[in-house]
Amino acid sequence: MGKPVIDHDECIGDGICEQICPEVFELRDDGLAYVIVDDAGEYQDKVDEAIEECPTSAISWED
Ligand code: SF4
Repeated sequence: MGKPVIDHDECIGDGICEQICPEVFELRDDGLAYVIVDDAGEYQDKVDEAIEECPTSAISWED
């Protein structure tokens, strides 16, 4: 656990992850979501929720 990663081949840019946890995820003008922190450990529960709610399962914890 530490940093989430987003598979940009899967992200459809609906912004759900940002709505759930704007401290960690940011939807940018290119239509893709980005992780904006190096360590999301303190937001683990919200990141887990975003992982569950992402419609394309594009988010995962970095190995
Ligand atoms: S919830 Fe998933 S598909 Fe939606 S913007 Fe975030 S990473 Fe992309």
